[in-house]
Amino acid sequence: MARYTGPSCRLCRREGMKLFLKGTKCFTPKCPVEKRAFPPGQHGQMRVKLSDYGIQLREKQKVKRIYGVLERQFKNYFVIAHKAKGVTGQQLLEMLERRLDNIVYRIGFATSRHEGRQFVRHRAVAVNGRVVDIPSYQVQVNDVVQIVPHRSGQLARVKQNLDRTKDRPGPAWIQVDAAHAQGVITRMPQKDDIGLPIQEQLVVELYSK
Ligand code: ZN
Repeated sequence: MARYTGPSCRLCRREGMKLFLKGTKCFTPKCPVEKRAFPPGQHGQMRVKLSDYGIQLREKQKVKRIYGVLERQFKNYFVIAHKAKGVTGQQLLEMLERRLDNIVYRIGFATSRHEGRQFVRHRAVAVNGRVVDIPSYQVQVNDVVQIVPHRSGQLARVKQNLDRTKDRPGPAWIQVDAAHAQGVITRMPQKDDIGLPIQEQLVVELYSK
């Protein structure tokens, strides 16, 4: 599969911001974007003026990488968002945020969306009491997302992660109950909940050409 397997924080440099792809590294000065705030590679320090298309493309790549979604699925989100009522860019962000692997990360069960996806794939996550092993599953309001460990070590890892992430601001749209390793979706996520400098309009412009 066309999945990127290189160093996570190289992508932080590519996009010029911390993408928080690798659990804890971006929260520390170890993330190389702090010391080398220019794109990686031989030509990284060349001054290039991006075209409108280039700016739109970079924004799309950035959002795709943050959520760990491949092109085909990402484009599919756009198609659905475009058909839906409301502002397309906001619909797109909402769908990305409602992914189950993102929820597992937002609650703090996982330190990255990638780890969140692993928990889902390994059948350690239940929605309303039933195991869901599809990372792209879209949560609804009132859904109860819970960790259901069945392998030794899973609960210990979740506890450790919750401890590591407890100082980060919790999601305003999910009611987290760390003691019972569960979270309840209280409302749909909005742009302000995302807490990342994403210009979703650029993505919409790119696909609307
Ligand atoms: Zn980083």
